[in-house]
Amino acid sequence: MSRQTMTFTALGSGSKGNAFAIQSGDSVILVDAGFSCRELCCRLTRAGIAPDSVQAVLLTHDHTDHACGCRVFCDKMQIPLYSASLTVDYLDNMECLPARVFEFQAGSRFELAGFEVSTFPVSHDACDPVGFVLRKGETSLGIATDLGIADDTVRNALTGCNMLVFESNYDLAMLETSKRPPMLKKRIRSFKGHLGNTDSMQELTRLISEETRMVTLVHVSRECNDYTLVEEAAREMLSSIHREDLYLDVARQEDIRAPFTFDRSGAQ
Ligand SMILES: [Zn+2]
Ligand SMILES: [Zn+2]
Repeated sequence: MSRQTMTFTALGSGSKGNAFAIQSGDSVILVDAGFSCRELCCRLTRAGIAPDSVQAVLLTHDHTDHACGCRVFCDKMQIPLYSASLTVDYLDNMECLPARVFEFQAGSRFELAGFEVSTFPVSHDACDPVGFVLRKGETSLGIATDLGIADDTVRNALTGCNMLVFESNYDLAMLETSKRPPMLKKRIRSFKGHLGNTDSMQELTRLISEETRMVTLVHVSRECNDYTLVEEAAREMLSSIHREDLYLDVARQEDIRAPFTFDRSGAQ
């Protein structure tokens, strides 16, 4: 495997759990560990990744569907959790912090298992929510999930990434007609909530550049959205910008997805 090859695997995504594996050479890290340690190990194994090969977990924010497996998984594998400062404080108060923790400020950069990691703040109703850009050589992957709006900070961070992992949470009509309480609907739609399909697709037309080869849509609501609907909207969006060549995927809640490998030749 060349130094600039990077493989992304969606181990699962949605309001009941999120975890993503990123591999490059011998480096393996997870973004989020929102499943039980046991479930996480099962999904990693199914993806052909030895759980004990994971070197660290990067955490986007403190919500259970992203953080619930962090303590047990990190402690069992004896690996560090990388988390934004206020998220660390919150998890500490909840007694959910693993033994090894690396704390960072949202907006900072650091080196992790051979990846250069850039962090950026996102707008969401959590303590200190962030997104990440992971770089290895000239290859880059950007991930932003659980965000009410994509502001200039998000755009600056994600523009030019070879691989984009981006939220497409709800279909507005399905959200409005759902049985969810009005307060919850309002929260989801707010700038501190989640990105709906329309906003997500509109945003992707800005974020996708010549360098982009893959888009994976994540955190699709099971009650207020539909995988097929998201895929159709994404295909329409890609067609509108003449980028049907992009590898497109929609992460699932119940199961892992096939890995996507990017190398600089552009081959999958
Ligand atoms: Zn979430
Ligand atoms: Zn969240």
